[in-house]
Amino acid sequence: MVLEPIHCPQCDGVEVIKHGTTPDGKQRYFCQNSQCHRRTFILQYKHPGYVREVKQQISDMAMNGSGI
Ligand SMILES: [Zn+2]
Repeated sequence: MVLEPIHCPQCDGVEVIKHGTTPDGKQRYFCQNSQCHRRTFILQYKHPGYVREVKQQISDMAMNGSGI
């Protein structure tokens, strides 16, 4: 598992630090880019089915490639 930098959803900057948690226990982040208009945000996992879809696609390609 590769640890990816956290991107700010507003400015796409990677100068992001942890900034405590929300009342419901989610990690809050703070964008250190002074040009950024949003600054604090909560990281959300968009499209939860996306990774599984890609894996399925790869396995389909592998199946097709291995056919005689
Ligand atoms: Zn930002």
